Amino acid sequence: MADIFVPRSKNPPAKVKDKGIRALVMNGAGAYNAKNGELLFLPAALLEKNRLVSALFAELLRGGGFQPVDCGGSDEAVFSLAERYVREYREKALCWAQEKGREVSLYCWGETSEDVLLKMQCASLAIQGLTGSRAAVNYITDTTISSYKAIKGVLPAEKGSDGAIGAFKCAGCGAEFLPDSECRRQAKPVNADFTEEMLQDVYTPGAHTIPLLCEFLNVPAETTLKAMLYTLELPDGGKKILFAMIRGDRDISISKLAAWVGENCPGAMFRRAGESEIVKEFGEVAGFCGPVGVPGHVLTVADLSLADGKNFVVGGNRPDYHRTGCCWGRDFAPPLADLALYTCETPCANCGGRLRETWFRPVCEFECGESAISKEPVLACRDRDGEHTWAHRFSGKVFLEQIILAMYENKDGGNGND
Ligand SMILES: [Zn+2]
Repeated sequence: MADIFVPRSKNPPAKVKDKGIRALVMNGAGAYNAKNGELLFLPAALLEKNRLVSALFAELLRGGGFQPVDCGGSDEAVFSLAERYVREYREKALCWAQEKGREVSLYCWGETSEDVLLKMQCASLAIQGLTGSRAAVNYITDTTISSYKAIKGVLPAEKGSDGAIGAFKCAGCGAEFLPDSECRRQAKPVNADFTEEMLQDVYTPGAHTIPLLCEFLNVPAETTLKAMLYTLELPDGGKKILFAMIRGDRDISISKLAAWVGENCPGAMFRRAGESEIVKEFGEVAGFCGPVGVPGHVLTVADLSLADGKNFVVGGNRPDYHRTGCCWGRDFAPPLADLALYTCETPCANCGGRLRETWFRPVCEFECGESAISKEPVLACRDRDGEHTWAHRFSGKVFLEQIILAMYENKDGGNGND
């Protein structure tokens, strides 16, 4: 048999920072197209990919009963397979795996949330086995809102690597967090040591952003309230405004908000509210919306960072006015949810320590939750015992290209210098 084509190179591809891509190209396993940033797999990388897929399929089948199939890359086709076979084959028809380009997609249905969480663990272990002892995959909890849970499997990466994601590591206890990881309720609410002031209107002309407001009133951002307005488009065609509020020095995680919307308004889509939609509900108050006196049909939700806080500066719901002395419980108390985006400023949820920035290659993404919440069809069948439903869902994606890059990056002598 002829040898495969392995064009080794002494020079790394120009302007590529990713150590994995550099090693892949220099080892003759890949070619890099600098024009469009495309990474082409030569025979050695393709063989590696096929080996990974075989090993992954075998592990998934052995550990979790995931059946490998090829449905032309279609997710809907996998669902109809499950629907067709579940009545007769039950468990055997509940878990599937499919290769899609440089990814492997996982599909699984279960009766309870424990069922699908268990499958998620099986999948995590199957991937851990792929990368070997050289690089252990680290699983970081991403968004978690009651029954919905998302996690990412990651390997360390250098800043600037292709597809690398920014994350945070605690200098104290070593815990790692992603931007959408769970933020706990802080032990000490805002202004906990102060007495409750009276609610008071203050004239703040032109102070329609948090930085402008802080400068105008000379207050720290953490004592202000940031108002974010979204339009929910409901499955019945109707619309609702959602007023999401968070401490002025924090930002809302769209993933967390999406999970909250999914749970509280199943099937609804959401987007930032338009100027005219805000005017219709609140009047001409863009930049001055506040939590006191919100119209009754507007949905409200508050991030945990506001809970039990005192003396916030909030929008006055009229142009150029804010209110000071706004207290949780007395003046406003919308439903609470964890909505905040993690940043370097957020204290470690584990020990309260300081975080520093770090970078990861995502090697897989997993999600568990109720099908209805993730807007997916519920798997069901009818037989002589009546109706059976599998209302819980686990879905996953494994990023083969990132695993291959991580493996090449760690290969002996594969690092190469400029
Ligand atoms: Zn810590």
